Amino acid sequence: MDRAGGNGAGRRKRLLGDCSRGVRGPLLIVTGGVHGNEPSGVEALERVFAELERTRAPLRGRFVGLCGNLASLERGARYVDEDLNRLWTTERVDASRGGTAPATSESHEQSELLEALEAVLEPAHEGAALLDLHSTSGAGPPFAILSDRPDNRRLVEALHVPAVLGLHRDVRGTLNEWFDSLGHTSVVLEGGQNADVATRARHESAIWVALASLGLLEEDCGVDFDAHRALLEASTAHLPGAIDVCLRWGIDPGERFRMEPGYANLQRVQRGELLARTGRFGEIPIRSPFDGMLLMPLYQEQGNDGFFLGLVNASPARAGHDPRRRS
Ligand SMILES: [Zn+2]
Repeated sequence: MDRAGGNGAGRRKRLLGDCSRGVRGPLLIVTGGVHGNEPSGVEALERVFAELERTRAPLRGRFVGLCGNLASLERGARYVDEDLNRLWTTERVDASRGGTAPATSESHEQSELLEALEAVLEPAHEGAALLDLHSTSGAGPPFAILSDRPDNRRLVEALHVPAVLGLHRDVRGTLNEWFDSLGHTSVVLEGGQNADVATRARHESAIWVALASLGLLEEDCGVDFDAHRALLEASTAHLPGAIDVCLRWGIDPGERFRMEPGYANLQRVQRGELLARTGRFGEIPIRSPFDGMLLMPLYQEQGNDGFFLGLVNASPARAGHDPRRRS
């Protein structure tokens, strides 16, 4: 079977593409638009499926592209009722299967997405991997979010982006965490700023590199993988191979959180530096408690993660990165 996605006009479909050439091999699922204000991953998937359809490149296994939050993509909002990327706890997944989840727009999205994922996972494959494509409200280079496992690290190393470790402790119920809990390779790629044209190019390159790295496409299949690797590496060469997240600033209801202007993802910050203001009237300064790296500063209305702070992971071997790439 081989179905390419649409051209992006009108309402999108859940299934963006499903490519196999009848040759047994691994399964790669790529998701885009789990947050509706992050359409770049969806657009990248549409382009890759169109290119695979055009070139008929020989492919082992199966490559499936799924659209995350259809209703919120249409509105250009992160979500409609609740964050779809916080609903993948055991309780909510069970409730979704049992039809007892709350009647929200995202419950509906989750139930369709869960059904699609489980249908794809059902036939036996030589390993399964999920690459979940996201982008951020703040500017900055691409990076990956993963749990610290060798298969996850191998994929991230192939993508030439910094590995952000330990985020699962603070952010529960992500699609990535659920897929990881099934024992499959599971990586989130944050491609850059939501509206930056470079973000889609990075997402597209990451899909091609993942297809090669996981063994679905051969290096000599006609795709310029080196150019895709170079594109990713160009914006990450100055960054450490891995970062351990050690602090999350969560925003409570009623809190007027405002990030100080001009912060970017993976920006180094110093102890005592003013990062944001918060409180009922936005009057309380928040200063960095240590020298570290800032992650995902919040520059949008929706969301309850103000920012994260991490420390450079001192062990390149642990992250599986080439030490030459370390800053
Ligand atoms: Zn996102």
